Amino acid sequence: MKKIWIIANWKSNKNITEALTWISEVGPHLRPREDIQIVVCPGFTELEEVHKSVLTGNFPIMVGSQDLSPFPPGAYTGEESAQELVGLVQLAILGHSERRLNFAETDEMIAQKVKQADKAGITPLVCVQSTQTPVPDGCRLVAFEPIEAIGSGQPDTPKDAEEVATSLKERYGPDLTVLYGGSVESRNVGSFIKQPDISGVLIGGASLDAREFVKIVKIVYED
Ligand code: PEP
Repeated sequence: MKKIWIIANWKSNKNITEALTWISEVGPHLRPREDIQIVVCPGFTELEEVHKSVLTGNFPIMVGSQDLSPFPPGAYTGEESAQELVGLVQLAILGHSERRLNFAETDEMIAQKVKQADKAGITPLVCVQSTQTPVPDGCRLVAFEPIEAIGSGQPDTPKDAEEVATSLKERYGPDLTVLYGGSVESRNVGSFIKQPDISGVLIGGASLDAREFVKIVKIVYED
């Protein structure tokens, strides 16, 4: 049985109050399931409060970050090292196309981030934009996110996403877990998770709305 990941990427959207409201609206609808992993990735400033409220509510939610530093702890002003995030997050989204585009992240920097995450015991989730994007050593969880599908309301077809997932697994090994991201919402999530080589979804816009996110989770529960 494959495990399905449902990952919310809030990007730079919610403040602490909004983040806590979301947790209080989503958490009570979730039940622990061995075959489903729900992850929420707030901004750095909300991480601690979100972490606390997940623990207090005993909700089956993993907390992740949207990035981390390619450097170890030290003199790197403004960066959040993996070591600083230990205890707050269990996963880090790395190499999102918005970071590659707006912050000039290179494949080499992303490979360094994966190393730092691994060293700290944080699971790296690397976003790949095509079959040509390298998957760094040490990364076993990727999200295929075609740039044109992100935030556009125009998702890739499940068939194309499945072909990419299959080819990534052929190249990097059958134990590579491949997710799909790009305009996923409640009306299309079922068609992606049905694909044999797609093990879940990374959701931006649609994850911001608690009711829509719960709707997505319930569709996956019932699948
Ligand atoms: C994303 O940012 O990872 C993403 C998939 O965004 P959206 O769901 O809004 O397309």
